[in-house]
Amino acid sequence: MTLTAPRTPAGTDARTVIANLKTGLFLSNEWVDATEGKTFTVENPATGEVLAQVADGSVADAERAIQAAGAAQRDWAKTSPRERSEILRRAYDLIIERTEELAAIMTAEMGKPLAEARGEVAYGAEFFRWFSEEAVRISGDYTTTGDGKNRILVTRGPVGPCVLVTPWNFPLAMGTRKIGPAIAAGCTMVFKPAAQTPLTSLALVQILKEAGLPAGVLNVVTTSKASAVVGNWMSSGIARKVSFTGSTEVGKILLTQAAENVMRSSMELGGNAPFIVCADANIDRAVDGAMMAKLRNMGEACTAANRFLVHRSVAAEFTEKLAKRMSALTVGDGSETGTDIGPLVDQAGLDKVQSFVDDAVERGASVVVGGNRPERPGYFYTPTVLSDVSADSALMSAEIFGPVAPVIPFDDEDEAIRIANDTEWGLVGYLFTQDIDRALRLGDELEVGMVGLNTGLVSNPAAPFGGVKQSGLGREGGKVGIDEFLEYKYLAIPR
Ligand code: NAP
Repeated sequence: MTLTAPRTPAGTDARTVIANLKTGLFLSNEWVDATEGKTFTVENPATGEVLAQVADGSVADAERAIQAAGAAQRDWAKTSPRERSEILRRAYDLIIERTEELAAIMTAEMGKPLAEARGEVAYGAEFFRWFSEEAVRISGDYTTTGDGKNRILVTRGPVGPCVLVTPWNFPLAMGTRKIGPAIAAGCTMVFKPAAQTPLTSLALVQILKEAGLPAGVLNVVTTSKASAVVGNWMSSGIARKVSFTGSTEVGKILLTQAAENVMRSSMELGGNAPFIVCADANIDRAVDGAMMAKLRNMGEACTAANRFLVHRSVAAEFTEKLAKRMSALTVGDGSETGTDIGPLVDQAGLDKVQSFVDDAVERGASVVVGGNRPERPGYFYTPTVLSDVSADSALMSAEIFGPVAPVIPFDDEDEAIRIANDTEWGLVGYLFTQDIDRALRLGDELEVGMVGLNTGLVSNPAAPFGGVKQSGLGREGGKVGIDEFLEYKYLAIPR
């Protein structure tokens, strides 16, 4: 028997799936209305259609959630690693079984094409499988003091109740990447998904309930009042850790709040990825990598290639080939077959992308392809390649978050590294070269947490994902992902 085959056929209707979703708050394993009875609206960015009304949690609801997480922590910490592991493994199986439903929800609420949404289901589910395996491998240490008079027994246990806050761009995976290690480590949680994409999270929570997660371990408050709800948790004195994925701006607010109660903090923040194409690169491979690094999620990814630094000798060839590939893409509703590029998430995102393109052109860039929005409702933007982009363009120092590839020629390695590192961010860099020495040299010099070497994709649950500088603190995934949710304790034992 295979447990990993999707249960429903392709083309599952999002409206039907969403109509069957629970859209209340999830407190102590019960679906409840917000105390004030309020709801907020979730819309489809491709059509403007209202998809659902979701419970709009208040500070009173936040308080109920954190109290529930606090009350459940002691018993949850005592569960066996195997029990926690098997809950995660069952949830993994259920996610895979429901691939089509989850993908349909994700495409409807944030716009990514169905094929990409299915890819995110597989990626997001894998965090549960990975951490189900890590749950039973939490190790400690045993040594003696230097003078031989004492034994040192080192154990590791859950850090305690955690505050989890996620963005809209990867509605499933950003949740599983936190919930997976928190469950494995034995932490309880309060969780606030992004207001634009709460439906995928609610479907995930239902799966965890079915997988046997005990009451109070995960408590979810959907809300239109992020700062009030999360602020309540941060000042509660009950939460011992915050794990946030989102903008650097909000990350800094949470770090300030975390300081008040000296909370452990993991921050996955913004990026400004350089994509370096050296003179000796295989250009076709670089173009393949560029398509992946730029267009995954319509460019709305922290890992999106933001600045294409291309050696002057190959800049024309790279630009022409990239423009040809980008102009062949189909822009449309992500739920329709054949769509390569869905809508951006909202009007503000669309306006921002257009303003970056206009600014770059004013400063001397040429539009090779795109540079406009297609004539249709929804927040669509045409895949765009800009050549000869000037270093003082606004998009050089901001996240574009759209399908726009600015090409900046460089003359030597030093210049490429100087431009690449000239940013407060340091999440990921991409490097295309066939010279192993150059690859290692430039890889060392890039001020980032991750390097894609001749590839446009670095995200994998088995790898430590995270950034340096203002891209964040800590790592998610890989062998170290669980460490973020564990504390050391040592027992001194005289011999
Ligand atoms: P965002 O505006 O920072 O929002 C992220 C989350 O924080 C949302 O749930 C949001 O709630 C909540 N929030 C907003 N203001 C808050 C406050 N004052 N206190 C507490 N919570 C608050 O980011 P976004 O626009 O959703 O996501 C895009 C950003 O995420 C980009 O910068 C991207 O690079 C980054 N990102 C980073 C990674 C990574 O792994 N490094 C991965 C994905 C995305 P509302 O939805 O209600 O506003």
